[in-house]
Amino acid sequence: VDETVAEDMQKLEENFTGISEKYRLINRIGEGTFSTVYKAEQLGLSLEDDAENQNQEAEFGMPLTRKRKHPDPNRSRFVALKKIYVTSSPSRILNELELLYELRNCPHICPLLTAFRHLDQVVAVLPYFRHLDFRLYYREFLTNDLRHYFLSLFSGLAYVHKAGIIHRDIKPTNFLYDHSKKQGVLVDFGLAERQGTDWQPCLCQRTKEERRERFLTSYAVQHLQSQPDLLSGGYPKNDARPSRRANRAGTRGFRAPEVLLKCTAQTTKIDIWSVGVILLTLLGRRFPFFNSADDIDAMIEIASIFGKKKMQGVAAMHGSVFETNIETVGEKGFTLEKIVLWASCREKTDDALHIGEAQAVNLLAGLLELDPHKRLSARQALEHEFFTNPIE
Ligand code: ADP
Ligand code: MG
Repeated sequence: VDETVAEDMQKLEENFTGISEKYRLINRIGEGTFSTVYKAEQLGLSLEDDAENQNQEAEFGMPLTRKRKHPDPNRSRFVALKKIYVTSSPSRILNELELLYELRNCPHICPLLTAFRHLDQVVAVLPYFRHLDFRLYYREFLTNDLRHYFLSLFSGLAYVHKAGIIHRDIKPTNFLYDHSKKQGVLVDFGLAERQGTDWQPCLCQRTKEERRERFLTSYAVQHLQSQPDLLSGGYPKNDARPSRRANRAGTRGFRAPEVLLKCTAQTTKIDIWSVGVILLTLLGRRFPFFNSADDIDAMIEIASIFGKKKMQGVAAMHGSVFETNIETVGEKGFTLEKIVLWASCREKTDDALHIGEAQAVNLLAGLLELDPHKRLSARQALEHEFFTNPIE
């Protein structure tokens, strides 16, 4: 163990006496923007019959007990201790714990065992889930591996979405996948929110006809038409419109177009787009697939695949405008099959997609659908032939 890690672990044990009595810290296993995660061994009795846990429940003012409908019989004695940084606001920490509690009965979601607080620091205790680093396997996945991986991921998401919750940060490091068990669990509900929490009207909520009408008379369009020279370097330089406020939380490269376009009525479909990016990464064998520095670049990257025309359509849908003079963005775009063949360097060989891969690409098209209304839901994805009629 690294010296600074050892120091941090010691500090944690000193601050949280309740933790050092129950767990032996082993190592740091993750470090993100909002937390540090340690692997630890549970000492002595299991939490189930731990009277002290009641104190914890009183502390957080909510049940933290682990009575799950599907207790995992071979739950290991290892846990993951997620130390949430104090920079996270208290309401945000509570939000994460509450959502984890609400979702505790799904076998595809890593449940919360208990939580500890010391001053403004909070440590969430989760069962340790064995998994490999995505970077170690994304090039090796066979079609059947894809099936198991996404079956698990969609099952978890279907449960989250049924509860009306948007995860908001779907990406490989937040889906821990165990190859030997062919099972994965969703983690990290730090950005998750209930759909509709901060909704403002967005054009996309209206009918197509209404949208067209409203869009053509919108300030944005008229403003742009009156000042064509506004468009230089790919996007408006002096955009005088009041900036729109919308939740943009998530990770670069995994944000759905409607998030990039600041749609103010985002839905669970934003998670589906992110799953699409993971599938594209695995099929194309490139990680990260999208590597933009900011939201504008991200739009350009997506536009390079789908073409300018479709991007303009989707921008208009959310009451926004997309314009670019960047040469790599064609008018029409490419099929996802082409993109996958190109990304996996099989474009110039005669190596066409085999049937299983073609099924996966067909599913991909339903996930990376620019229009969130047409994009598949997690339930619909689970009914796709890629899962229901698997061909090698
Ligand atoms: P952050 O908000 O910092 O991203 P996460 O909950 O995503 O926190 O955890 C960060 C990393 O810690 C994960 O990517 C994973 O590698 C590891 N991790 C988190 N929870 C567990 C767990 N239950 N079992 C094993 N590893 C975990
Ligand atoms: Mg994370």
